[in-house]
Amino acid sequence: MIEKKNLEELKKGSLLAFGEIFNGKLHPSAIEVLTPLKELGLKLDKKVVLVCLMDNLQSFQDLEVLKKSIADEVWMVCHQELVHFKDDLYAEVLIEIVKKTSPYGLFFPATSIGCALAPRIAGKLNLGLCAHVNHLEVEDGKIVMARPTYGENIIAKLISKTTPVMATLSIGAFSPSYGEREPKFFEVAMPEEFTWVSKIKVRNFKPSAKQPNRLSTAKVVVAGGRGLKSKENFKKLFELAQILKAEVGATRPVCYEGWVEEDRMIGVSGVTVRPKVYIGFGISGALQHTVGMENSEFIVAVNTDKEAPLVKMAHLALIGDASKVLDLLIKKLKK
Ligand SMILES: Cc1cc2nc3c(=O)[nH]c(=O)nc-3n(C[C@H](O)[C@H](O)[C@H](O)COP(=O)(O)OP(=O)(O)OC[C@H]3O[C@@H](n4cnc5c(N)ncnc54)[C@H](O)[C@@H]3O)c2cc1C
Repeated sequence: MIEKKNLEELKKGSLLAFGEIFNGKLHPSAIEVLTPLKELGLKLDKKVVLVCLMDNLQSFQDLEVLKKSIADEVWMVCHQELVHFKDDLYAEVLIEIVKKTSPYGLFFPATSIGCALAPRIAGKLNLGLCAHVNHLEVEDGKIVMARPTYGENIIAKLISKTTPVMATLSIGAFSPSYGEREPKFFEVAMPEEFTWVSKIKVRNFKPSAKQPNRLSTAKVVVAGGRGLKSKENFKKLFELAQILKAEVGATRPVCYEGWVEEDRMIGVSGVTVRPKVYIGFGISGALQHTVGMENSEFIVAVNTDKEAPLVKMAHLALIGDASKVLDLLIKKLKK
């Protein structure tokens, strides 16, 4: 049962998380970010609220997923102008919510939509914003946000001087969890004077045929780096991934080279993975990469350099040419 409420009637001082919906589907990160927020909520005695913006409830396909979430409440703002993501309008809706409900925290998954919205809101409200946080805790009644910094060589712990505390949270850094009690659902009516205008005009919308990858939850990850030498060699990883039912990950340089899409980047600027098995082909193991895969249960490194950091941290290392090892592995597994 979804109750209707005006903005003014909603609970104040909560921890709000942005629940990203694209094309009627909830982004998996919406469930992930609730895990650390629930812990903060319990320690700070704050409710955890997922805020979802959509055109209408009928077109939303993941209500059942939300029912199993650990949010205390779900606030749904529905309006036909929200059918496509528009930075300016989405930001204005969230700013209005912040103004009327004075949250204690406002958190976004570090998806491209989250990373577009959070700084726009922080800028407009003159608030601090901590980007790519991968750990949250409470110290002396304050939210402490941790993220790699200084060329990603140290972990900085940051406390916001402004409220609401704002951060984008690294994708995959937090495991999804589910609750036994359904959250309370509210359809939120925006104030009558709110103007649903945007400078962005969507003339044509063609959703990408490509399905979003499931790197952050994959059980097996096969990742490639510069040691694979070419885009052609990198493509072989997809063949291996198909055989192993794995997801393909990559280092930053190869994403920037255009060998593979950037949403497959593992590390501080990309996704955090924690599979049962991670196999790195031609990856040196720079800290900026390993921060995103160090919690893998079993790590295999294929490298020509036995001194490479990833070789040293691996449970199993194969010293040899990554492309040749890939060929042999595919041939053997196909048999
Ligand atoms: C602010 C900042 C953020 C960053 N964020 C990220 C991030 O999120 N993710 C990320 O991955 N990187 C990130 N980086 C980049 C990171 O520092 C490294 O440069 C990068 O991870 C290295 O990628 P690589 O291992 O593919 O390449 P390299 O470091 O060049 O390593 C290639 C490896 O391949 C081996 N090799 C060479 N030939 C062969 C062969 N024939 N067969 C097998 N092995 C071979 C080499 O011995 C070497 O170990 C970031 C950097 C900065 C400054």
